[in-house]
Amino acid sequence: MSPTYRTLRQRCQREWVAFGVLPGDLEKLIVAFVDHHNHQCYHEVLKNLTPAKNPEVSHMTRNCLRRLLLGAVGAAVVSGVAIADDVDALVGAMLGNTPIIDDLKSLTDSIGGRVTGSPSNSAAVTWALARFKQADVVATAEEFEMPSQWQELEASANVSGDISFAARVVAKPFSTGTDGSLSAPLVDGARGTADDFDRLAEMAHEAWVLVETAVLDDNIGLAGLFAEYGSAAATAQLAIDAGVAGIVFMSSRPKNLLYRLPMLSSKDKLPILVMERENAERALRLLRAGNSLTLQATIEIDGGYAYQSSNVIGEIRGSSRPDEIVLLGAHLDSYDLGTGALDNGANVTMLIDIARQIRRLGLQPERTIRFALWNGEEQGFFGSWQYTERHEDELDNHVMAASFDIGTGRITGFFTGGRPGLPAIVDQQLAPVAGLGPFQQVDIPLVGTDNFDFMIEGVPNLIAAQADANYASNYHAASDTFDKVDQRQLKLNSAIAAALVWGFANTADRLPRQTHDDIDALINATDLEQQMRTFGVWEDWASGIRGRQSSSEALEGDPEAGVPSASENQTDISLPPAVAVSSSAVVATSVITDDAPVADENYGLKEPLPPPEENTLQVTVTSVSKNLSNRFLFATESGQVWLQTDQRRARFEDTPFKAEIRPGSMGSYFLKPDSSTVSVRVRREK
Ligand SMILES: [Zn+2]
Repeated sequence: MSPTYRTLRQRCQREWVAFGVLPGDLEKLIVAFVDHHNHQCYHEVLKNLTPAKNPEVSHMTRNCLRRLLLGAVGAAVVSGVAIADDVDALVGAMLGNTPIIDDLKSLTDSIGGRVTGSPSNSAAVTWALARFKQADVVATAEEFEMPSQWQELEASANVSGDISFAARVVAKPFSTGTDGSLSAPLVDGARGTADDFDRLAEMAHEAWVLVETAVLDDNIGLAGLFAEYGSAAATAQLAIDAGVAGIVFMSSRPKNLLYRLPMLSSKDKLPILVMERENAERALRLLRAGNSLTLQATIEIDGGYAYQSSNVIGEIRGSSRPDEIVLLGAHLDSYDLGTGALDNGANVTMLIDIARQIRRLGLQPERTIRFALWNGEEQGFFGSWQYTERHEDELDNHVMAASFDIGTGRITGFFTGGRPGLPAIVDQQLAPVAGLGPFQQVDIPLVGTDNFDFMIEGVPNLIAAQADANYASNYHAASDTFDKVDQRQLKLNSAIAAALVWGFANTADRLPRQTHDDIDALINATDLEQQMRTFGVWEDWASGIRGRQSSSEALEGDPEAGVPSASENQTDISLPPAVAVSSSAVVATSVITDDAPVADENYGLKEPLPPPEENTLQVTVTSVSKNLSNRFLFATESGQVWLQTDQRRARFEDTPFKAEIRPGSMGSYFLKPDSSTVSVRVRREK
């Protein structure tokens, strides 16, 4: 087929699909028409596709077909006609008959939920590599270390007391286990505000606090989801301060729907459940009627240990500026209750399909395009973080990094991150798909998905802003399955995303990478700090282990970055900041004695673990106690206190004992008792 012919055909497809003609039907009609060059067919098509009640469709279709006919005639007569406009070709191809929907069925129905670290997640990595390969796109699995496994093995709950009933529950991600079952009074925590905890006072102590939530449905959508995240994080902090046994959040979704809302800011601090709404409401009514209730809950978690995961990175090399990179990203992992269709299988298949169509059409971008399928997103954007570490030398040349992570609602524009100049460049790239708009860029920074590390590395970054549709009501829930996907809108979104990436890969315009000070200024001018705290990533930035540093000195201890320098330490020796400050629970760096060697400055972040004999510390543990979540606190002779972060059951109740502590990855420490081979993860507490 000649380029002119191809372009016209694709333009027709685009216009028709925009008016609701299904790609499959359209394909058949066009093939019939084009292959026969036949006026009879032309009239037949017109008759079929132009309902009299819709004159606009009629007009569009008529014009489109006329152009197609002229194109066909022209192609037959003239050889070597003008080269097709690449972006139109690509957009047309995205709207045509592609395997995107079959891919999505395969990823969600056959592979299913894809928790990072699970066998199905590994299957998804293999699947993605195979899909890229079939599409003739070079792709690699880039391995990285996930610092801490978290997977629910069991969660169950029974209400007893004046009235007894069983209630379905799930553990919130990063909840601790209960070490057997945990039975405690169930108290009415109302909305879980500071006033509510004041009212409860001592009653909250060592109780299960039941917290009411607002209904989250499609009417409130994403606003409700963000509100739920924010209030849950605030409640968890109040609950920790009040010394509760655990929190039970009422499900915000009616009809017994359960979901996993991550609690990164209270990671590993206490048991947290979500209870089906109807039974939580029942318990609250009973409590408010004066009944006294006890909750016996069991949470068993497999977790605490580091493990390997992989991003899948597909690449189409640029023709004239191959060192400059435009990146489209979507996370491959999901939670386990549903099959991760809206979050985020749909956008994964969209990225694969864009790469496939670029190769199929033989298009050559000027810049290199990378298609990044991230892992570990749900645990705190680990895959994209590790990508920015691994590709640090290339970050100056990352022209743009976009994330797609809000289901299949219409793309209404992009979040441009508070980056002057970026909205105008995005506007320009979306011009070829203006008919699928309108588009409005939203120039604010957002934390919550894989743009985050690009943002704090100063790389121009985008998140697709999408209509709420049914995203929030199915978010991380058992109901996030293939049937919730808006297939037609996914096709249209794929055309929009294709135009965006093609534009960025070929435009002369580009913004420079921001400096540490620029990023700091952005944080100071916006609510970024609060957002980062909600997602549990503030300390990582503030301590300098994550994001762009002001200079190489930061790694030595930059006071502004919140890391004391070695000379400021009052005690004998400092751990390198990269090791000491990666967790919000670790508050100081001066922890070990004279004879312990200092670790490599990149240690724990980019380099494999050094041999165990390096960097060890002999301590005598003088007392061991349990905290509320039944994990051990170790006090040492020097007055330091270490918290066991491992969920595995290890007992160190005979004190004093001698132990060896050596830094593990990502700010955790292994504590190895003298007389035993058991090791658990610990980290230093205030
Ligand atoms: Zn997501």
